[in-house]
Amino acid sequence: MISGETLLTGVFGDPVEHSRSPVMHNAAYEELGLDRVYLPFHVRSDQLRHALAGIPALGLLGVNVTVPHKERAVGMVHWISREGRKLGAINCVVNRSGRLYGDNTDARGLEADLRSFKLAIAGKRAIVIGAGGAAAAAMLGISRLGARPIVLANRTRSRALLLARRLRPIEPQVITLGSLIDPEIVGEAAIIVNATSAGLRDSIFPALNYAATPKECFFYDLIYAPEPTPFLQPARQLNRRSSDGRGMLVHQGALAFELFNRCEAPVEVMRDALFKSLGDARS
Ligand code: NAP
Repeated sequence: MISGETLLTGVFGDPVEHSRSPVMHNAAYEELGLDRVYLPFHVRSDQLRHALAGIPALGLLGVNVTVPHKERAVGMVHWISREGRKLGAINCVVNRSGRLYGDNTDARGLEADLRSFKLAIAGKRAIVIGAGGAAAAAMLGISRLGARPIVLANRTRSRALLLARRLRPIEPQVITLGSLIDPEIVGEAAIIVNATSAGLRDSIFPALNYAATPKECFFYDLIYAPEPTPFLQPARQLNRRSSDGRGMLVHQGALAFELFNRCEAPVEVMRDALFKSLGDARS
């Protein structure tokens, strides 16, 4: 029940209707008995500055920012975390006594999810595909798990080189997307991460030599969907371990919840709510 004392949080995006964050955060409020709600706000790019300025004006506790605002929002808050600076993007804005603090929980979210699989990737080769904000977060998360070397493959090589420069000292080896069919490249991979949007709307993923990957290679797709994604399907057929990005979504959301509400997030409740909304039992 919304009352005169209900406090607000939410997500700014364009589009925003598809966002699963309201389901997770509102389930957490219900579990903790907090008089708070989390709402989706459709905010167009030309309105982002005004919408962010409205956070202290309206007394919102904080908001997530999602596509296409993550990079531009960096220049519209009062200060940002080291991680947000490193990634050049933020996914949450916290109202700290009327001043806006930006942070990015994507890399920590992925790291937490990957840790739950107890992967032995320290000192082993990781391949990250993509060169956008998600790939930056993936590189940071994976490097904290000790994977070395990290190989970065992207359709547009110049973008991958820019990302590699920004994320120094990780120093990834930059390759072309076409090299993913080379057994020498994929043959020693302990983990391959898809951080592109390829497969999100179409059913095709760029060519990759799945058969040449080691049996213990782990495949992780940042995209989440009720069905195995085009990136994961061939890996599953070969019985490789794999996961889509729903666990990352849960963990980045839980970390944002803690920033907004200054209390521990009920991670399992958030996970159950997300999985249910995807029409899927716990995997
Ligand atoms: P972005 O900045 O738009 O980058 C998109 C990337 O995908 C670029 O590297 C682009 O390559 C590549 N790409 C797009 N279509 C392609 C195709 N047909 N073939 C090969 N490469 C293609 O997006 P982003 O913000 O990094 O997000 C990427 C994905 O991560 C999205 O699907 C998003 O939903 C997901 N994500 C998930 C979570 C989670 O919590 N699970 C969190 C963040 C993001 P070019 O550079 O050549 O254009």
